[in-house]
This record gives sequence, structure tokens and C-alpha cells, in this order.
Amino acid sequence: MARTLSVDFLENHLEPLPLTLLRLVKTEAERLDLPLYIVGGSVRDLMLGRMIKDFDLIVEGDARKLAETILRRFGGKVVFHSRFGTATWTLDETTFKRLNVPMLNAADLPPFLDFVSARSEIYSEPGALPTVKRSTIEDDLRRRDFSINAMALRLDGRYFGKLLDPVGGQVDLEHGLIRILHARSFVDDPTRMLRAVRYMGRYGFQIESWTLTLINKEARDVLSRLSGERLRHEIDLMFEESAPSALLQRLGELDLLFPIHSSLQHANFQLPFLEVLSAEFGEFTIPDIMTFKRTLGWVLWLMPLSAVDIDALSKRLDFPAMLTKAARGASSLLNKLPALTGSKPSQWTFYLEELPSIAVYAVYLMRREPALRDYLAHWRNIKPTITGNDLKEHGLEPGPKFAEILHQLRAARLDGEVKSREEELKLVERLVS
Ligand code: ATP
Repeated sequence: MARTLSVDFLENHLEPLPLTLLRLVKTEAERLDLPLYIVGGSVRDLMLGRMIKDFDLIVEGDARKLAETILRRFGGKVVFHSRFGTATWTLDETTFKRLNVPMLNAADLPPFLDFVSARSEIYSEPGALPTVKRSTIEDDLRRRDFSINAMALRLDGRYFGKLLDPVGGQVDLEHGLIRILHARSFVDDPTRMLRAVRYMGRYGFQIESWTLTLINKEARDVLSRLSGERLRHEIDLMFEESAPSALLQRLGELDLLFPIHSSLQHANFQLPFLEVLSAEFGEFTIPDIMTFKRTLGWVLWLMPLSAVDIDALSKRLDFPAMLTKAARGASSLLNKLPALTGSKPSQWTFYLEELPSIAVYAVYLMRREPALRDYLAHWRNIKPTITGNDLKEHGLEPGPKFAEILHQLRAARLDGEVKSREEELKLVERLVS
């Protein structure tokens, strides 16, 4: 692995737009004489020879000044967060015009960049969010979680490509080791234990032996008091990795699940590959707050738990209501499956329609019951051609009888007992008389 980085190397590992932005920021930082670095995960992935999608930027000095200069030259919008010494520059149409690059798809890369002033952190108490203070790049690297995430590559002027590696991240990368930087690290921020497991899974690395000893009672105690939101976020990220099952198992082996919630040890640790939904399953409604994969991951994981456990977990981890509903739905469907087997399509459909479709899909992935696939792909869309309006035209008044007729019509359609409008009409007449 090289200690310096060439322009070519960067060009080959970044998509054209992020590369253009990186060049722009570099030029502006040089004009202002500000040392500029990419840091953290992007450096780690570059050293591993991986393509990087985006990058974290650190300025040794005033990030706000850099962002303001860029705003003046390239337009867009800048928001400052003085508490963290960060400035977020959001690109807009003007920016893309001035850069002479096509406006990109929002899905390709978020059209913003964060500029962060190098800082140090102090934890007032275990598990609390730190207070931050402007500092040097070296201090900034030393406040980080693991050595492999504590490297910086300098970008400005003649220093371009210089690697800063104060805690031996490069050697740990070569040996595949995840090492924290000081003995209180997991107590200060126990989410780092979960982050360690995520990197193990992603890169096939090991937790270094001293680091492993620090996953101890004290750190687990702080973990058990951490906010639900922080914990859930870390687990959300696991479901975005390629093999979440292995990560969840590893959490169990390291005794990190019990401190989060005792019921998690009874969850499902044999998750199927989180399949991207294929078109044959039709439309699903998933709110924006969580991606499909994350929701699916949680539902698969929690499916074997009882409704009581799911509710308790939902409270502890601050689940959005739709996730609680989906996990409860999957759990009850799993229990009901033996009783439903051999039922008519209408019986399946009327039961399954009460559940979120993602719950049905999750149970299908686990059990491969063909009726669940048929329901998602076909049955739920089957409706009789006769509508309520048609019944009114036949002189029927809306009411319980009216609803019952529509229900029976739909059941007959689903079960193939009527196949045409004529047959539907005959059935209505029979039902009315
Ligand atoms: P990923 O590829 O998973 O996004 P990343 O390294 O970019 O990995 P982020 O969560 O985006 O991860 O964090 C960016 C950087 O901030 C990390 O590389 C690390 O240096 C630092 N960092 C993130 N979370 C923590 C933490 N809990 N404690 C200390 N440093 C952290």
C-alpha cells in the first residue's frame, strides 16, 4: 500500500461528479491557504482499493470560510452548525451550470457536501454526546472510533496525496484488524461496539485482542442505557450490509444483544438474503423514513417473537409505528400459517389483507409458502367487475347486506367460482333472492 496517493489513483476510484467537486474544493482551499483532507471511511476504502461514492472533508481551520467562498463562486446554499464547526453546502441548478456538469439524479449522490473543521471531543459522561472544540487534524483523527477509520489524505497543493496515519491504521488494514484508540472508547460511545461488528462483517476483519477485552461489563452497561434511536440506527445499518445474519449472530456471541433487550436472543438468526423485491410481487407501500431493506431486515429478525416482546422492543428502540405493525403482523402470520395451509384463495386474501404487505413478504421469504406469493403477486389485486354503484343501480341500498354481497362476489372471483360479468350478475341475483 502506497504512503502517497496519485491524482490518477483518485480519478480511478471516484465517480466523475464527486471528483469534480473534490477538485473544486481543493482549488478553493489552496486559494485560502487552508489545509484540506479527506478522512475516515473514504480513506480506508481507498487504501483497500475500493471505489468510493463520497468522502468526508476536514479543514484544518475555518470550514465556514471555505464554504462561504465556495458559495460566492458556485452558488447553492450553505447552512452552518456552529456547535459542531460544520458547514453544509447544498448544490443547486446554478452550481451545476457553473461547473458545467449535467444536473445529477438525486439518487446518485446527495447534492451536498459537508465541510468540517478539525476538532477534538470531550465526553462529559459515558454514552453522552461529546462536546467539541476546534483543533488539529491529528487530534481529529485521535477522537475517531478505530485505527482503520483514523487516517487522512491531504489534498491541498504540494501536500496532495500525503497520508496521515497517527495510530497505525494502515498496518491494521493490512492485518485485517479493528482496533479502538483508547481504553475508554467503548464506554464513551458504546455504539462503537456495534460499528466494530459491522466492519467485521463487511471486510471479514477481526476485532484486535486488546479491543476485544474492552467489550466488557462496563461498556455493556452503558450500551443498555443508550437511547433507542441511536441503537436502532446502528442496527438499521447492519441490514444494509450484504450478510446481516452473520452480523446479528456475532452481536449475540459478543453478548451485545441482551443489554439492548432480553428478547433479542430469541430472534431469528437465519435471515434469508434480503432480496430486492422483484416486479412480480407488485407494489409495496413503505414510508420514506426507512428503506425497504431495513424494514424487511427488522421484520425477518423479529418474526419469531411474541406480540408482547415486539411491543416491548418497539418501546425500547423507538420503532416507527409502521415497523411495529409489520413486525407484529409477520409474527402473527407465522403462527397462523399451519391453520391457513390448504385454505381457499379468498380465505388467504381476507386474512392477509389485514397485514402490511412487507410482513407477508417477509414470511414468504422464510417459509416459501406459495399462497403468500400468489397473494402478493395476484390475489390482492383481484376484484369483481361489479361495483357498489352497479348494486345501487340494481336498487340495493348500502348496508350490511350490500357489503356482504360485495364480499361474496370478491370471494367467488378469487376462488374462480365466477369468471365473467354474466356469472357475477347471476351470483348477485342468487344472493339478493
Ligand atoms: P461507512 O462505510 O459505513 O459509511 P464510514 O467510516 O464512512 O463508514 P461514518 O459513519 O460515515 O462511517 O463515519 C465517518 C467517520 O467518522 C468514520 O470513518 C469515523 O472516523 C468517524 N466516526 C463515525 N462514528 C464514530 C463514532 N461513533 N465514534 C468515533 N468516530 C466515529
